[in-house]
Amino acid sequence: MTFIDTHCHLDMKEFREDLPEVLDRAVQAGVEYVLNVGSDFKGCERTVDLARNHTMIFGAVGIHPHDAKTYDRDKEEKILEWLEEPGMVALGEIGLDYHYDHSPRDVQRRVFERQLQIAVERDLPVVIHSREAEDETMRILEQSGLHKGVMHCFSGGEEMAERALALGLHISFAGPVTFKNAQGLKEVARKIPDERLLIETDAPYLSPVPYRGKRNEPARVVETARVLASLRGVGLEDIARITTVNAKRLFGIGEMPEEGEIAYKIRDNLYLNLTNRCSNVCGFCVRFHTDYVKGHNLRLSREPSLEELKTAIGNPLDYREVVFCGYGEPLLRFELLKDLALWIKKRGGRVRVNTNGHGNLIHGRNILPELEGLVDSISISLNAHDDETYRKICRPRVKDAFKGVLEFIREAKRYIPEVTVTVVDMEGVDLDACRRIAEDSGVRFRLRRLDSVG
Ligand code: SF4
Repeated sequence: MTFIDTHCHLDMKEFREDLPEVLDRAVQAGVEYVLNVGSDFKGCERTVDLARNHTMIFGAVGIHPHDAKTYDRDKEEKILEWLEEPGMVALGEIGLDYHYDHSPRDVQRRVFERQLQIAVERDLPVVIHSREAEDETMRILEQSGLHKGVMHCFSGGEEMAERALALGLHISFAGPVTFKNAQGLKEVARKIPDERLLIETDAPYLSPVPYRGKRNEPARVVETARVLASLRGVGLEDIARITTVNAKRLFGIGEMPEEGEIAYKIRDNLYLNLTNRCSNVCGFCVRFHTDYVKGHNLRLSREPSLEELKTAIGNPLDYREVVFCGYGEPLLRFELLKDLALWIKKRGGRVRVNTNGHGNLIHGRNILPELEGLVDSISISLNAHDDETYRKICRPRVKDAFKGVLEFIREAKRYIPEVTVTVVDMEGVDLDACRRIAEDSGVRFRLRRLDSVG
């Protein structure tokens, strides 16, 4: 399990005495990299030095809104020169701070706009600081053409988060999300999509609970991750993986897995990725906008064999359930699925299948009797209350798909102990009607959030 602290200020005097010990503790806690963000112009220079001398430190340089009044051509040239260094991966922190107003607001805005222009021209991610200036920050960002960056130490509301996400930006949470009185922020943190979530310490500031009030340091990013895991109903390991992959992709640092995973863990379940093919082309499908689910790369270069899957599973009893799922429709590989389910059942494991319910249409026969005794539970995506809506949302590649899914749901109940119908909460879908379809078929109903996968 590894973490990336995407925002700290190890260049500050608070770390002069004991930086080696601070970095040692970070490594012990599982921190793989830190992004040091120059706290002021001198701090930017030290950030460049830190990145040169420590492989785990990358850097961001830029003019903070506090210092906007000192921005001039010489400083800009120096920043541009530093950005050429291999360890400098972002421009920041830049933005607006109307709480302290250390620089006049019109100057802050001008300097923010100028640095955004540089970031866009150079295709660099930015680290954004915004304090008591939500609207102005977002207005400037929306006009800038920028689509790559992070809202650091996010403290805004849902509307600001949505505007930032719409621009393609990431949202980073620091110690405040662990504070007891931060209910609003916790609510926002629950809803940020996995692929835009980052963590940071903002050290030496904002120590998370239980270190509140003490000097912060990168090792404590784990406490923020722990709180996010509990807020989002996943494991610490999941948050570590998700945020590490996000940070690596955004800042272009570290190694990324090149091959798609054929078996991947989320919480205490193991998911199997049999295929990337599907008989639907759902408009909301995660496959069309990312290769990653909960930090796992699921883009396969080829479909795995039975033996490869057995090796990847190991002992099925290590997991609560083994789930046939992945980036495609698992029932397309029906024979392999049956063989593997039998192998799992013989070893005492529990099997679930997540499907679009096209199995019988794909294979031209009722395949459900063949799953009796092999599958403990099945989740069938319904996603619409009628044929027209189904065709619009799921764009099926098989004939009479909606009717086929309804029949599949009713038939599944005869052979599989637990049947659940799932629906994604999309506009235009009559959720009550979907719930009634499940009730009338005598199966469970589960509503899924549009941006929640896995
Ligand atoms: S059925 Fe599932 S895998 Fe297939 S396109 Fe729809 S969301 Fe994607």
